Amino acid sequence: MNDDAPRIHLGSLLRAPGDVSASGEVQELHYEQAGTPQVLRFAEPAAYGIDINSLEGNEFWLQGYFEPVLTQECSRCLKPVTVPLELTLGTLMQYRPAVPESFLEEAETGEELLVFGNPDLDLSNYLAEMTLLGSPLTVLHDPHCKGLCQVCGHDLNESPCEHSAAVPIEDEYASQPGIQEGSQHARQNPFAALSGLKLPED
Ligand SMILES: [Zn+2]
Ligand SMILES: [Zn+2]
Repeated sequence: MNDDAPRIHLGSLLRAPGDVSASGEVQELHYEQAGTPQVLRFAEPAAYGIDINSLEGNEFWLQGYFEPVLTQECSRCLKPVTVPLELTLGTLMQYRPAVPESFLEEAETGEELLVFGNPDLDLSNYLAEMTLLGSPLTVLHDPHCKGLCQVCGHDLNESPCEHSAAVPIEDEYASQPGIQEGSQHARQNPFAALSGLKLPED
């Protein structure tokens, strides 16, 4: 049990319709993924505000915000990049008394459904999942990041290396229509734009 976990107490909602709210900051989230404990650490304390109100029967509506700042690697040069997120939360909730740990499942409508059984609800799992869903798959530390040399691993932002001198990278980008610097393809694979690069044999 993590004492710093973001929590919201839903006991009053289970007794009578109404709404409850909670807010605060978290530096990290302890959660489980496929039964394995995980920790998600933020670059700075992440502010959250959650409001939950009663719907029909055993259902509730959660809304609020979460503003985690992640540290991810530049997908071309692997430098750490600070990624601030502003997540808007809106999730249907369902109370099932027998459920020990809350979890997200897909409702019949295709929406996410947060299922909980403990009225003292730990929001760690939920906020961690929303963060992972909301974070970009790849980031660049600079839109013009030159990446690492695929031969020697040198950071080409600092200076060219002997390999990049042989075939200037800018020319190579320009000569390949469809693979522009900054394109989706190039972002997903830092070396995609260099895959057709032919080094002179001497
Ligand atoms: Zn970079
Ligand atoms: Zn090199």
